[in-house]
Amino acid sequence: MRWSSAFIPTRRDKPAEAETRGHELMLRAGMIKQLSSGIYSYLPPGYRVIRKLEEVVRQEMVRVGAQELFMPAMQPREIWDETGRWDKYGSNMVKFRDRNNRAYGLAPTHEEAVTDIVRALVLSYRQLPLSLFQIQTKFRDEARPRFGVIRAREFSMKDAYSFDIDEQGLDRSFQAMFDAYVRILQRLRLPSIAVEADSGAIGGTGSVEFMIPTGTGEDQIIYCDGCGYAANIEKAVSRYEPYYFDGDMLSTEIVPTPHASTIDEVSAFFDVPAQRFIKTLIYYADNTPIAALIRGDHEVNEVKLANAVGCQELVLADARTIEEITHARVGFAGPVGIDRIPIYCDDAVPLMRNALTGANQDDAHMINVNYGRDFVADQVLDMRRTAAGDHCTRCDGPLRVQRGIEVGHVFKLGTVYSEPMHATFAAEDGSERPFVMGCYGIGISRLVAAVIETSNDENGIIWPLEIAPYLAVIIPTNVDTPQIRDVAEKMYAELCEEGCEVLIDDRAVSAGTKFKDNDLIGIPVTITVGKNYLSSGLVEYRLRTGALAAIPEETAVSRVCDLSEMLRNQSERYI
Ligand SMILES: [Zn+2]
Repeated sequence: MRWSSAFIPTRRDKPAEAETRGHELMLRAGMIKQLSSGIYSYLPPGYRVIRKLEEVVRQEMVRVGAQELFMPAMQPREIWDETGRWDKYGSNMVKFRDRNNRAYGLAPTHEEAVTDIVRALVLSYRQLPLSLFQIQTKFRDEARPRFGVIRAREFSMKDAYSFDIDEQGLDRSFQAMFDAYVRILQRLRLPSIAVEADSGAIGGTGSVEFMIPTGTGEDQIIYCDGCGYAANIEKAVSRYEPYYFDGDMLSTEIVPTPHASTIDEVSAFFDVPAQRFIKTLIYYADNTPIAALIRGDHEVNEVKLANAVGCQELVLADARTIEEITHARVGFAGPVGIDRIPIYCDDAVPLMRNALTGANQDDAHMINVNYGRDFVADQVLDMRRTAAGDHCTRCDGPLRVQRGIEVGHVFKLGTVYSEPMHATFAAEDGSERPFVMGCYGIGISRLVAAVIETSNDENGIIWPLEIAPYLAVIIPTNVDTPQIRDVAEKMYAELCEEGCEVLIDDRAVSAGTKFKDNDLIGIPVTITVGKNYLSSGLVEYRLRTGALAAIPEETAVSRVCDLSEMLRNQSERYI
C-alpha cells in the first residue's frame, strides 16, 4: 500500500475526548472514529488489526475443537422471556418493535439463541460434547460508555458455548477454553491475571475473568502476593481490621451537629474515628427504595448488594427521595426511626457498640446506637468493598489493588439455560437430560485496546508482530532524489511480489513527519533509504522496539521476507 493513497488519518494533537493513553493512541493513529457516544467506526488501519486479531482467536478456538457459526444480532423477545432475561437485562439491552409491533432486542450475548439451535438439532448424547463459537457484533446500551472502545455500546466479541452430558464433561470443556484463552493472550504478548469473578447477568455456578493489569481502566483487581489469590473487586473477599469499642450499651441521645454532615465533619465534631460511625445510604433497587448500612470507614460494594437484593439496577436515590424517607436533609440519615423501607446491613455493623448515626433530623446525629436494641436489618450480609491494605482470607497477607481491563470471561453455566428452555438430549440410559453448558467470551475490540494500553512508548503503538496493521514500511527520505526513490520503489515491488504486508511512504513530506507517523501507528519494521544510501549503499533497518542496523538493501528485503514467512508458518501451525 502506498501512503500517498492510503486512508490513514493520523493526528498530532491529543484529542480532547481521550480518556486513557490507549484511547488517545487509537484516535491519533487513525484507527477509530466516534459516531456517537460509545459507538465507533474502525478505519482501515484499525480494521486490519481487528481482522488479524480475530484470526488469532479463531485459530485457537478451532484448535480446541470449537466450530464456527454465525447467529443473528436481532432476536425476538420470546426466547429471552424463556430465561427471564428480557426483564433482567432491563435497559442495558437495546429493544425495539418491528413493523408488526413485535418486540425485538439486539443481543448483548447469545446463550438463548445458541440453546435454541441445540435443543432443536442435537438430540442424543452421541452428538456430544459440542462447542460452537462466533465472532460477532454485540450491543449493550451502557449508561456510561467510557474509555473509547473499552466500554462501548456496540462492540465485537468472540463468544463460545459448550454442551456436555455432565459436569465432568463441562469441566473438560471449560479447561480447554481456559487454556485457549491463555494461548491467545500469550500470542498477543498480553500479561494477564485470571481472577474469580461475579457471574452477573449471565449466571451459573462459577466464573473466571481474564484481566490485563494496565494501571488505568474501570475494573479493579484485588490480589495477594502471598498465596496468589486474585479476584475482581466486585467479587473479592477480605478480612478487615476489626474495631472494638468495649463498654456497656448506653442510652441513645440526639445531639445537635450544625455544619457537620460528612463522615469527616462528624468524626471531627465528636472527636471519634470513622469506625464508630454507621453510614446510611438510600438506594433505588430497581424502583424500590432501600437503606444500606455500612461502617463509616468502609464503602459499599454495589454488586454484592445488588446480588443480595436481587435487583437489576441499583442507583443512589436523589436528594428529594432521601428527604422524603428520612425527613431530613441529605447527610442526616440513620437506621433509627427511618420510614419503613427494607434495610440491608453489612456484617461489620452488628459488631459495633454505641455507634453514631444520622438522626433523621436536620443538623442532628444520634449517639449510642446499638444493633438489635435500636434497630434491626432485613438482611445482614458482606457488602463491603475490599480495599488495599485489607488482609487475605486465605493467608492473611496484605491485599493489593490494581486497575485493569477485563478482556475475557469464562462461565460454568451448568443447566441454568437448558432447564428453563427445555433443552434436553437422550442420555445413554434413555432418559431425557438437560445439556450441561459453559460459555466463554473474549472481547475483540477490547483486546486491541488492551494491547495498545500495555504496549506503547512516547512515540506511539508497539504491536506484537501478529496483529500489526502492516509488517514493514519503506521510507525514502526524499522522493525527489531519483536514486533514493528508485531503490525504495524496487524494494517495495520485491516485497509486494513476495506477499509481504508492506507500506511505502511515498508522500512528499519531511522524513521527520514520516518517522513520526509510522512510529505512531506502530509499524514493526522501518526501512529508511536516505543520504547514507547515496554514500555507502546501505539502508537503515530499524525495529519499532529500537534495534537498528545499516545493511544492504537485499539483506533488508530478505529479513522482511523471513519475518513474513515466520508469521505465516506460525498461524498455519495453529490451524
Ligand atoms: Zn493470600
